[in-house]
Amino acid sequence: MIAPLDKILHYTVPDTLASAVQVGSRVRVPLGRRQVVGYVMGWGQPGDSLLKDVQAVIAPEPLFDACQAGFYLRAARYYDYPPGEAVRTALPAGLSGPESKPAVLLDKIYRATARDDQPPAVETIERYRDPFAAMPIQEHPPVVLNPAQQSAVERIERSLQEEHYQAFLLHGVTGSGKTEVYLNAIAKTLARQRQALVLVPEIALTPQLVGRFRGRFRDQEIKLAVLHSGLSEGERYDAWRQVARGDVDVVIGARSAVFAPLSKLGLIIVDEEHDSSYKQSEGFRYNGRDLAQLRGHLAQAVVVLGSATPSLTTYQRALTGALVKLDLPERTAARPLPTVELVDLTQHQGETLLSDPLRDALGEALAAGEQALLLLNRRGYAPFLLCHECGATLHCPNCDITLTYSRVQRSLRCHYCDYHQAPPDHCQRCSGSSLAPEGMGTERLEEEILTDFPKARVARMDRDTMRRKGAHHQLVAAMAAGTIDVLIGTQMIAKGHDFPAVTLVGVLNTDTALNLPDFRSAERVFALLSQVAGRAGRGERPGRVLIQTYATDNDALHCVTRHDYQNFAERELSQRQALAYPPYGYLVNLVLSGNDQGRVADAAEQLAAALLRDDREVEVLGPAPCLLARLRNKHRRQILLKARQRDPLRRQVVRLQRLRALLPAGVQLTVDVDPVDMF
Ligand code: ADP
Ligand code: ZN
Repeated sequence: MIAPLDKILHYTVPDTLASAVQVGSRVRVPLGRRQVVGYVMGWGQPGDSLLKDVQAVIAPEPLFDACQAGFYLRAARYYDYPPGEAVRTALPAGLSGPESKPAVLLDKIYRATARDDQPPAVETIERYRDPFAAMPIQEHPPVVLNPAQQSAVERIERSLQEEHYQAFLLHGVTGSGKTEVYLNAIAKTLARQRQALVLVPEIALTPQLVGRFRGRFRDQEIKLAVLHSGLSEGERYDAWRQVARGDVDVVIGARSAVFAPLSKLGLIIVDEEHDSSYKQSEGFRYNGRDLAQLRGHLAQAVVVLGSATPSLTTYQRALTGALVKLDLPERTAARPLPTVELVDLTQHQGETLLSDPLRDALGEALAAGEQALLLLNRRGYAPFLLCHECGATLHCPNCDITLTYSRVQRSLRCHYCDYHQAPPDHCQRCSGSSLAPEGMGTERLEEEILTDFPKARVARMDRDTMRRKGAHHQLVAAMAAGTIDVLIGTQMIAKGHDFPAVTLVGVLNTDTALNLPDFRSAERVFALLSQVAGRAGRGERPGRVLIQTYATDNDALHCVTRHDYQNFAERELSQRQALAYPPYGYLVNLVLSGNDQGRVADAAEQLAAALLRDDREVEVLGPAPCLLARLRNKHRRQILLKARQRDPLRRQVVRLQRLRALLPAGVQLTVDVDPVDMF
């Protein structure tokens, strides 16, 4: 495979094709001795050099317009990613395969990125598939907005009328009716003949939201498209093309929908904007929430970032006035927020996974015919098997991590590379036969609950049980129908669900997450616990939340018990400011990886030294082994670049392009701008 070209190539458009070639056209161009497929990104100036001609236009309809092309290129530059690869990420899969190489396009002058020729799957998929077929419509009675909702909608509407960029933070506690604000703002946008884009963290986990949108706009001639990774390539391509043609009014999707080719964009909503799944964790490492703001800027659209627990970056931008903050301080229909208590695990040791207070509360909820949610952010039965004779544990042969034991699957599995094996009968080191599961996972919790409450109907929501298509929908429906009493799950259960019969939420452990060596660990824990707590008491009956922890003096946990976002944010922001961490500083994470440990270490030392020599305004932290020092058989070291200003950091990223060429063979460099997960 040839390395991807990281620039835009220029070609001329022959007169015969002049009328057919537009920005966003898929064209065939010569590249070296081959013919490749490219996308027209724009028009250049005729230069001196002799350029080759575009050979043919493959698809008559452009797939994006000039504004979107500009957006894609800006995004690629910001994240220091080859533009052709960025465009490939933006466009639906199926248009180009993994072997594609971005190239350059043309002159008369047109510019575009091009990639390997692929069978034009597109031309043979003319049949329309209904992307909603599997998704239920949710009937929702019309709602009279309360004063806080009303004034939020009015403020947004004012900006819609002005038709230029304005971003909002809609800060509303869980159950405060943010979705109603979105729906009303969308209606106002559509009334102005503009389109709306709605981003959600993981659309497969929010079918209720899609159902509500469909229910709301069903009677009007409003066309919705849903873009997410659960769609087949064909479905995604269909939806994309409908959008590009201007046939769609509202697009709902996960982070990649930020690239959707809406050309009359008036409103972008980013729901649960704090969610870290807006950040793509490999390849083109963009952040959908941040790009939504860039896109809004370029399209002169209004952007609404909604959350009960805004990211500190967004919150701080609201404090500086870059975003306008809109508050929904109370739950709708005068429902109170749940009471939240900490259970001190030092006082309840040896009481198995459920402490006595949590077991009692669960018993009461079950006796009253109410539902409970239990959060345990670890799937499988146990995080590892331990030999009680020699202390050995089983590690992944490819990664620096223990293998998670699953009793249901009868396997030991690596959650990073998916390596798996059958659990052995004997310790491989001492041949002893007392291998036992250590620590807790959702399967083990389920077993314990069934032992304590044999009549309870228990279900599990984690990546193991949600793998099957439609599994999530079935589980949500069963919760709504009341055929589940206790839902156990990983962080998935915290995501935006509205289960009105849930009165009890239990959090099994918080200490691992609080102690992660990451400056965002408190922010993550605060958000996760507030969100999961927000699932309690959304219906008629009030909610109660119990959080088991050893860290009863932790400030973030105390803020959770008081529903005190502001206090949490102020403390945390002042610490970030002192250390120049985001949002008061900027980070770029460099990961060097390769099969040869010594080579990776040397390359990291040399790169760090070169970066230090070049610029004193940028702090160079490391190199140090990554927390996961070996992943999928690659040894990994990281260098963190940190600066109070963005410009010097950008200069270093540009220098990196030169330094990259000096890396020894077999060592790869990954650049992560604004990293979220640094393991
Ligand atoms: P959030 O997105 O802030 O968690 P939702 O928009 O899901 O909250 O609203 C929570 C519940 O309150 C939903 O069932 C919704 O239909 C209802 N609701 C929203 N606004 C109102 C209102 N003004 N009056 C009564 N009920 C409302
Ligand atoms: Zn592994």
